[in-house]
Amino acid sequence: MNMKRYQVAIIGAGVTGTSILYVLSKYTDVKSIVLIEKYSGVAKVQSASTNNSQTLHFGDIETHYTPEKAKKVKEAADMVRIYVEKHGRHLYRKFHKMALAVGKDEVKTLTERQKVFSKIFPKLKLIGRKELEKIEPNVVKGRDPDVELAAAFTEDGYAVNYGKLSEDFVKEAQRSDKEIDILFNTSIDSIIKKDKHYLLKHKNTEIMADAVIVAASANSLTFAHRLGYGKDLILLPVAGDFFCVPKLLNGKVYMMQHPDLPFAAIHGDPDVTNPDETRFGPIAKVIPVLEKRNYASSIDFLKLFRFRWSALMSLLAILSKPVYYRYVFWNFLYGIPFIGKYFFLKEVRKIVPSLKGSQLKYGRGIGGIRPQVVDTKTKKVSLGEAKIVGDRIIFNITPSPGASVCLKNAEEDVRKVCEFLGSTFDQKRFDAEFKTG
Ligand SMILES: Cc1cc2nc3c(=O)[nH]c(=O)nc-3n(C[C@H](O)[C@H](O)[C@H](O)COP(=O)(O)OP(=O)(O)OC[C@H]3O[C@@H](n4cnc5c(N)ncnc54)[C@H](O)[C@@H]3O)c2cc1C
Repeated sequence: MNMKRYQVAIIGAGVTGTSILYVLSKYTDVKSIVLIEKYSGVAKVQSASTNNSQTLHFGDIETHYTPEKAKKVKEAADMVRIYVEKHGRHLYRKFHKMALAVGKDEVKTLTERQKVFSKIFPKLKLIGRKELEKIEPNVVKGRDPDVELAAAFTEDGYAVNYGKLSEDFVKEAQRSDKEIDILFNTSIDSIIKKDKHYLLKHKNTEIMADAVIVAASANSLTFAHRLGYGKDLILLPVAGDFFCVPKLLNGKVYMMQHPDLPFAAIHGDPDVTNPDETRFGPIAKVIPVLEKRNYASSIDFLKLFRFRWSALMSLLAILSKPVYYRYVFWNFLYGIPFIGKYFFLKEVRKIVPSLKGSQLKYGRGIGGIRPQVVDTKTKKVSLGEAKIVGDRIIFNITPSPGASVCLKNAEEDVRKVCEFLGSTFDQKRFDAEFKTG
């Protein structure tokens, strides 16, 4: 068999894998890279523009972030901002954005938060009902005048088409002088560790690589388990769905976030591919599949779970907490066909009080799955990223928060891979391009 050998193989062509390809090809002396994807193109799963909320998260309107987390996220998001601003308007749109506080308690919390966060985000300002009415009339229209309202507001909101961004990373990488192969329709069945390299198997073909980066989202954990890594980790797959209505909002309106939940608060915002539509969501359902609309992936979920006592007890421990079971219960109701939207209406009316149930259309074929990592030792959902670094192999399961940190995540992985291979990462040139501070 004629087997090709690469210095680095990347499995998965979502925004995680493609950003790694981009950084490897542009900022290192690694000569040969292969990007392997099971579908026929890039970004067909979570990174597709239809399947996520398209927000570039900076930490300013994410009210569950601590100042430290916000500073880290801002640094990472700035890298994506710099990239998309340089590479073209087809990758993003700018909208204003806000975290909306409704009622006395939320307004008090947001006002306190603003004292700290305005120092990190000087353009973030606290606005009241009057200004809000001018910026987002539908947020105020029909609302009880006695209910207190405030918002942490900025003009600097970015909606990114992460699918297009993934395509752009690949296009830019292919412009480099490196030997780059992109293999679509190639589902890796197994990864076998040899003395000095890895063998990646797809049907009857094999690919040889000195180092491997697995950027296959939930499937990364499956590969990690098979190679003996991360055995204490399991996944809680949380599907995120959306409801769509003709345009009601001019920008992104996020609600205040529960501090103990890792999932984004429900928000309303314009679709990056069609700003005449407003999407509300995501509603979150725990379902036993690793990939939405791919029912065969329930088998992969069960394989990860393996009905171990510790796995079962971890899920029970998590789901028995009131904050989780209430969240799961209500989100389950929102997802019931035909009537679910009327339960959801109560939630969305916190953003647009005059919204009618009949206006909400379930977004068919959109939304994705977020693989939330659960540690069976602590019996807790991990609130941050999940990455496992092994011997010349890295597994990316859940970069956090999602696609917004792809370039920062790529920087970390590329630095590590260069260490594995004895190659050079041009940190100075990378920093000059992407770091603002
Ligand atoms: C509802 C929802 C809303 C979200 N909103 C936001 C948001 O507003 N902002 C944000 O930053 N993030 C958001 N996220 C998260 C973000 O979408 C993801 O973090 C990001 O897209 C993950 O990218 P990825 O490349 O790791 O995974 P994916 O895009 O899923 O890519 C993984 C790739 O690996 C491939 N693959 C899997 N197994 C194999 C195999 N065996 N062989 C070959 N290829 C394989 C898959 O086909 C896929 O293409 C959201 C997610 C969801 C679900």
